[in-house]
Amino acid sequence: MQNTPGLPEPPAEMLAYYQSLHAFITEQVAQLRSTPFEKVAGASGRIQTLLHTTSLLDMGYVPVDNERVAKNFKSIVDLLLQSSPANELALVLTKALAGGEFGKEYWQEDLQGVEDRLVGWADAAKLDADSLLQLAHWAMSPFWRLAAEQYATELHEIITNERTNCPICGKHADFAVLDDKEHGRRYLTCLSCNWQWPFKRMGCSYCGNNDHGELGYILLEDHKGYMIYHCERCKSYLKTFDQRAAVGRLDDNPLLENVKTLFLDMIAIKKGYLPIHGQVDES
Ligand SMILES: [Zn+2]
Ligand SMILES: [Zn+2]
Repeated sequence: MQNTPGLPEPPAEMLAYYQSLHAFITEQVAQLRSTPFEKVAGASGRIQTLLHTTSLLDMGYVPVDNERVAKNFKSIVDLLLQSSPANELALVLTKALAGGEFGKEYWQEDLQGVEDRLVGWADAAKLDADSLLQLAHWAMSPFWRLAAEQYATELHEIITNERTNCPICGKHADFAVLDDKEHGRRYLTCLSCNWQWPFKRMGCSYCGNNDHGELGYILLEDHKGYMIYHCERCKSYLKTFDQRAAVGRLDDNPLLENVKTLFLDMIAIKKGYLPIHGQVDES
């Protein structure tokens, strides 16, 4: 693990949670790889011409075992509780799980349907809906990652320069990297799917806004290589790591890199930008 000296550290319990989460998801994907994956007939050709608004999930190309998602969800709540024993969401969910909630039937609907139920549940329990959705996404993540691997060749054929959402799950990017091997070409990253896709250098990765007068970025004097793109039209921000900068990576693991750059989220939110990445468009 390479750490750049002087960067603000994330809370230890958060780091511990994401480290155990990474190990768990990696293990789940390894297990799924040993089961046969059947590609949908005709999928290969259709993926290459996938519309910007459509994802593999929408097309029904991502097989998901609901029983396993239910198990994953429980395991992930356990991981959260272990690292943060006072976490209110983890405590309430643990109780609900013990009472038989969130069983395999809960996960049967399409993603939008499941998300609507989760948001309703969080609102009723007065808990943070985004945090709950994130847990659910991690529970499904092994299946999304497996589909990304299986359809990687086809996915690489898609022209994604204008694509603001992940071609596998349809969510917005968690962060971006500027690739050092391709003269700073910008790639958007989806952590759930462990996937990156090329995206135009300027242009909002949330609303697609191309008006340069409404787009900008914040460079951090003290932390070279890290920057925050922002859009005045939708008020979104996108934290970005410039791999060309001559500084050590925080981590070669995107999931941990995202946690270790939490200080960037803090800066962006303090400046009034909204943490709206990792979401699916409402339309
Ligand atoms: Zn994704
Ligand atoms: Zn925007």
